[in-house]
Amino acid sequence: MKTTALLLLAALATAACDSKTATTGEAATASKTVEVTTETSTTDPGTAGTSGTAATATDEANAAPAPDPSSIPATKTGDATAILARPQVPILCYHQIRDWTGRDSKNAKDYIIPIAAFKAQMKMLADSGYHTVLPDQLFAYLTTGAKLPSKPVMLTFDDTDLDQFTIARPELEKYGYKAVYFVMTVSLGRPHYMTKPMVKQLSDEGNIIGSHTWDHHNVKKYQGQDWVTQIDKPTKTLEDITGKKIKYFAYPFGLWNTQAFPELKKRGFVAAFSLAEKRDQTDPLFTIRRIIASGYWSPKTLRNNIVQSF
Ligand SMILES: [Zn+2]
Repeated sequence: MKTTALLLLAALATAACDSKTATTGEAATASKTVEVTTETSTTDPGTAGTSGTAATATDEANAAPAPDPSSIPATKTGDATAILARPQVPILCYHQIRDWTGRDSKNAKDYIIPIAAFKAQMKMLADSGYHTVLPDQLFAYLTTGAKLPSKPVMLTFDDTDLDQFTIARPELEKYGYKAVYFVMTVSLGRPHYMTKPMVKQLSDEGNIIGSHTWDHHNVKKYQGQDWVTQIDKPTKTLEDITGKKIKYFAYPFGLWNTQAFPELKKRGFVAAFSLAEKRDQTDPLFTIRRIIASGYWSPKTLRNNIVQSF
């Protein structure tokens, strides 16, 4: 199943590199001013900045409170024209973070980033002044134009791989970075995957847990009971683990169709993440674009792709 997922994603990664949709020069120069609004962020202020290693600037950025999406009026969330007009925020998608072995295929290596390469990519982002943002911040920005920290970037991790906890988590901590983990619940507790306590810890530490279905089936093929198996039950599992509402979804393989939007909406999701494909022009919040940060990319290549793809 995993190999199939990697192969199917390979085609999409190529698309990511070729993407020539909107650019976001403006997003990169967005004001650093932190908007003060009602505190509804899932980041616990009591734990913010206690790692001792986070830089001052990133502490400030991570402390930016974001309103809960439910507090934003439908006139804003339904205004596709306004949402599409705002420069996209670069969003990176990672899978496995480990050194390559002889068994890894050429295509698989787009989804397996060697540890040193991952560390170099994170260091480049920090050295270049990028600040990580979380989905509620992005949602407020896209729907209301709320300010983001300077040079915003979102880091997302799909598929529940253990190395996201053991390798990525401490690396992100060095820079005060927070991320989004899209969990495939069938894998929880299996060898080489994260456990429920790890997912809870990530959530408690101010990261966001999103849904990535039960076992990675293509959303375009769901019928009837599939919505219960792939969406309802995993959402309940993740809400039981984190004690928080699960509001964000990532499509397996990045694949979506418009029929999925009402199904996700009526289940409480406020936005969904795809891959490099063009956004839906009516429901852009349900096709937020990401690019897969390839294991082949040097920090410089990553930086070029961030600029060119968003
Ligand atoms: Zn996936």
